[in-house]
Amino acid sequence: MAEHLKTGWPQQVERQQEVIDTVSRILREVEHEGEPAIRRWSAQLDGWEPPTFVVPVEQIKAAAETVDDELAGQLEFARNQVERFARAQRDTLQDLEVETLPGVVLGHRHLPVAKVGSYSPGGRYPLIASSIMTVTVPKVAGVDTVVAVAPPRDGQGIYGPQLYTMNLAGADVILCLGGVQAFAALAFGVEDVAPVDLVVGAGNAYVAEAKRQLFGTVGIDLLAGPTEVAVIADETADPRLVAADLLGQAEHGFNSPALLVTTSHDFGTAVIAEVDRWLAGDWPTVEVAGAAWREHGTVVVCESREEAVEVSDAYAPEHLEVQTSDDDWYAANLRNYGSLFIGPESTVAFSDKSIGTNHVLPTGRAARYTGGLWVGKFLKTVTYQRLTPGGARVIAPSTAAIADAELMYGHALTARLRLP
Ligand code: NAD
Repeated sequence: MAEHLKTGWPQQVERQQEVIDTVSRILREVEHEGEPAIRRWSAQLDGWEPPTFVVPVEQIKAAAETVDDELAGQLEFARNQVERFARAQRDTLQDLEVETLPGVVLGHRHLPVAKVGSYSPGGRYPLIASSIMTVTVPKVAGVDTVVAVAPPRDGQGIYGPQLYTMNLAGADVILCLGGVQAFAALAFGVEDVAPVDLVVGAGNAYVAEAKRQLFGTVGIDLLAGPTEVAVIADETADPRLVAADLLGQAEHGFNSPALLVTTSHDFGTAVIAEVDRWLAGDWPTVEVAGAAWREHGTVVVCESREEAVEVSDAYAPEHLEVQTSDDDWYAANLRNYGSLFIGPESTVAFSDKSIGTNHVLPTGRAARYTGGLWVGKFLKTVTYQRLTPGGARVIAPSTAAIADAELMYGHALTARLRLP
């Protein structure tokens, strides 16, 4: 039986009524009133009332001055890594055509979505790397138009290095809007920017709820809300490193849960002590990481590695690190996670920023049914069929019989008309 040395990770992620109501009100008002409602909410929530939400070309060019050569080079490195991996993933998606019976040809093709809206968060931190994840990858998929969106920073427009990166990643249009009003603008259109077909990207609880409510009006990638981290570690791991990795993600926000699953009681206690030691330090984001850990930090001691897998899969964490003497066994047996970090060198921050895997990942137990953002999310796998007269004669009897049983006369008729 698993023993909890510390609890806090919300077992059931309950959507807050206030968030649901606020999002629904903003979306309803934008749908009915259009741009005036976007302006009103942007002013109210972000103090942002520009002449136009579309970022002018001169501003995009000027953003280059906010990035020094060192950062520019590292951003290029990260963009290239994301592009390389996305291209390799794209190459695994082959079109298919197969003759399942004589004269019966079935196939599928992967067609890119025409127009995508890509959101990069920018409330607490301007997440520059998000712009690489959400703009580079649809371009690799072959999307025609990527409308990239990020919130204003301190009522001043998009943070310079973030704007620079959106352009570097290949955005066709850049909008400066935050949160729900950004998604409303993408879904319903704003100024001369037409509605997109699919919205993607991570964000806070309002952003995740906006995507949930907009699903159907537009496509969404997945529900990627407040960040989560879990580590499975045994006594062979370094408790100081594990503690740092837990807090490194907890700094995302006060509501970011962090979980340690271990097969060693002593190791669990050691990590809790190391977390406390880190939190006694003086680093810029210690307050938010500490609050997140105190409220949502969880430590579970399991009796076996099988139980550790069971516990971790039940949480279905967004990020999951494995630091044990048995990493390959865990990698082979774990099922529910957004992205897996195998061994002590694979820290979550690498994929958050620059290793090349996408950092837009499922939260709130969505990892039970989906992986994260990837090139395949921008492609529609559509099917087709082509038949010879002989092929039609093979298929028609079964179609007619099933349609008859369903009382669907018209369907049966179209099948029988193709019989001699
Ligand atoms: P954000 O860009 O998601 O949200 C900022 C916007 O929220 C603001 O522009 C504002 O319009 C809106 N907002 C703020 N308070 C509001 C209110 N009371 N009502 C309505 N709207 C409101 O930036 P953020 O807040 O810093 O959140 C970023 C989140 O993204 C973090 O929780 C982080 O953990 C998460 N994240 C998740 C992933 C993932 O893949 N799951 C990846 C990166 C970041």
